[in-house]
Amino acid sequence: MKPAAFDYARPGSLEEVVSILAGAGGDAKVLAGGQSLVPLLNFRMLRPAILVDINRVPGLSALEADGTGLRVGALTRHHTLETSRLVRARFPVLATAMAHVAHLAIRNRGTAGGSLSHADPAAELPMLALLLDAEIHTRSPAGSGRHAAGGFFLGPLVSALAEDEVVTEIVLPGLPPGTGWGFEEFAQRSGDFAIAAAAATVTLEGGRIAQARLALTGVDETPIRLAAVEADLVGARPGEALARAAAEHARTAVNPNSDLKASAEYRRRLVAALVARVLASAWARAGGGAPAPDGAAERDGAAERDGAAEPDREGSP
Ligand SMILES: Cc1cc2nc3c(=O)[nH]c(=O)nc-3n(C[C@H](O)[C@H](O)[C@H](O)COP(=O)(O)OP(=O)(O)OC[C@H]3O[C@@H](n4cnc5c(N)ncnc54)[C@H](O)[C@@H]3O)c2cc1C
Repeated sequence: MKPAAFDYARPGSLEEVVSILAGAGGDAKVLAGGQSLVPLLNFRMLRPAILVDINRVPGLSALEADGTGLRVGALTRHHTLETSRLVRARFPVLATAMAHVAHLAIRNRGTAGGSLSHADPAAELPMLALLLDAEIHTRSPAGSGRHAAGGFFLGPLVSALAEDEVVTEIVLPGLPPGTGWGFEEFAQRSGDFAIAAAAATVTLEGGRIAQARLALTGVDETPIRLAAVEADLVGARPGEALARAAAEHARTAVNPNSDLKASAEYRRRLVAALVARVLASAWARAGGGAPAPDGAAERDGAAERDGAAEPDREGSP
């Protein structure tokens, strides 16, 4: 199918973007990578009066260090997040997850700001934003705004963004020393949206878990954090019995839907398996000793060492 007719604007500044959005009274759509928006237009599921292409706005593709964290411009492409040495050195869990987004052609165009704004309940980046306690920076006629990732995803394809608000960058706070990570996804074919995926970070102090973060996608109307499971892990010593208990807790804590791809019960069982694996990987990488299931810790440890001479800034200004 072909989209319904629309006007097209390609402003050269954020001020112009916001002014066009405000003037359209809710009948405009931001165009970033177009990988989700264009199919929706083609199927006529969306019929905006005007598309506001932000690809010529300067400064939105910057990817730079921020203390021990990162600032990710809204127009940073998925493939940049997957391949950047800076990202791999500071947030290897993010680089690893991005390799699971769609196919290379889509990752070459799709953007960080687009993925968060689109808020697909099975997408990887929203889950990572939630896991890493990201802050989403925006601009609107009211000025600059900030959203905690924790309150940003409201439902399937629904975010906290106002109609005249544009995402400008995503800020990821640095991880504490002694933090390991894990990421696991199950999809029917490589490149498909996840049936379920899980990600974790675990910080060890004196052999005990000082902080645990656990996020899932594909099992609810938004990506979710498993706060109760996280709380149970704090203070414990990593081990197989703890991983099994956390996996069972996670299985009973989720309330997934059944759909054509998988039943709710199948997704619950997947959650248990994925949670056990991401925790084992995370505490192995944090120095807790339990072997990562696939030897991935050694492989990614090498990648982290390669990133020792990490650049401070990548991407175009
Ligand atoms: C075949 C296929 C498979 C895919 N598989 C996956 C997958 O496995 N995992 C996954 O995560 N994604 C997947 N995607 C989606 C892909 O990652 C998209 O790139 C992403 O969801 C949207 O990014 P975009 O830059 O293309 O946004 P666009 O398509 O340009 O926009 C998407 C939405 O976000 C809004 N928007 C975009 N940028 C901003 C901004 N800066 N501020 C405010 N609003 C904005 C738009 O108005 C629109 O509503 C897939 C897409 C396709 C076509």
